[in-house]
Amino acid sequence: MGKRSSLALYRLKKAIEELESKQGHGTQLVSLLIPPGKQVSDVLNVLKQEYSTAANIKSKSTRKNVQDSIMKAIQRLKLFNEVPPTGLIIYSGAIPRAGPGTEEIETYVIIPPEPINTYLYRCDDRFYVEPLKEMLREQNSYGILVMDNSEAVYALLRGRRLEILKKITSGVPGKTRAGGQSARRFERLREAELNEYYKRVASHAEKLFLDVPDLRGIIVGGPGPTKYEFVDGGYLHYMLKDKILAVVDTSYADEQGVREVFEKAPEVIQSVRYVEERNLVQRFLSELGRNTGYAIYGEQEVRDALLRGAVKTLLLSEDLDLYRVSVKCPSCGYVKSRVVRQKELLGISQKLEEEVCPKCGGQGLQVTDTKSLIDEFAELAEASGAEVEIISAETEEGAMLKNAFGGIAAILRYKQP
Ligand SMILES: [Zn+2]
Repeated sequence: MGKRSSLALYRLKKAIEELESKQGHGTQLVSLLIPPGKQVSDVLNVLKQEYSTAANIKSKSTRKNVQDSIMKAIQRLKLFNEVPPTGLIIYSGAIPRAGPGTEEIETYVIIPPEPINTYLYRCDDRFYVEPLKEMLREQNSYGILVMDNSEAVYALLRGRRLEILKKITSGVPGKTRAGGQSARRFERLREAELNEYYKRVASHAEKLFLDVPDLRGIIVGGPGPTKYEFVDGGYLHYMLKDKILAVVDTSYADEQGVREVFEKAPEVIQSVRYVEERNLVQRFLSELGRNTGYAIYGEQEVRDALLRGAVKTLLLSEDLDLYRVSVKCPSCGYVKSRVVRQKELLGISQKLEEEVCPKCGGQGLQVTDTKSLIDEFAELAEASGAEVEIISAETEEGAMLKNAFGGIAAILRYKQP
């Protein structure tokens, strides 16, 4: 599996946020997790059984809510002939709008970006999103090499799983020579042995890391200067050397040292993403600064370029807090859309009540659709084959994208006419 896109992660994060915000009563929210390979018909039978069992619930409103939720889940599941390769997740439940009796059934179907491996049917007052949250975690593999001049340990980090692959010792004597040896001769021998040891360290690294298919990077650790001598000495295969993300100090060169690197890894990996984000925005700024005609920004200009299929890379600020609200007049059919901030979203229906339709003068304008600009622009980009990068505001460049360029920018395939 390759690198996951920042857009896929962003969408997953948003879906989890929405699902987590839903709360029901008692056991009225159904979570159904179906792993790949399971028969749809088997799961349908389970749901039908649960539907019958729910007939025994004493409270009439609870019984109705639970049965309606299960029925909605059955209807959605029936749309699938088979479970997708990564599995299928269905959430269905009665969500109260205000007080008791105001519940409406909401149903969400999610094809997970990573395979799920357990089957689960659960009724609770919350949707069960933990397996999705698990998927937000880093999934790629990282090699860890911890060394000093007496030993080296290799490990592989995948998600939060750490596997020690190999340990070797150097056999190189310490810095104190035995009596009778000349200092120069001792030093020369030691140098030669260290050189051989570095070659062995490199050769094992090749065997262990070079064929890992989704190796995103290598972190080298160890106490003292040995690790730098090794990294800078040109021993390592160039493809592995290119993957070194960081060289970090640890107190130990053994498994304990690997644990130390493991603790620091999330920070290292995050900083790699920050560097990527920084580079992406800098590329945009550089084109803009040199006035090459390849960089544009702002909602309207970028939208036009997307529609023309002219965008190569779309940069969207993760904190872009804008939503498009579509409004319709029920009397004459007049439609329009406006862009508002999230905090204005809550009061928008009330505000519309005070407005009149500009076409027929009637009242009662209604919201027909609400969509975040990030989703809207990402879909336009996908339709035209543009790359999408969601940029956090954690870096100076990311903050600049958000504040100085309205959070929407693009690098074009060809010059702006
Ligand atoms: Zn009207």
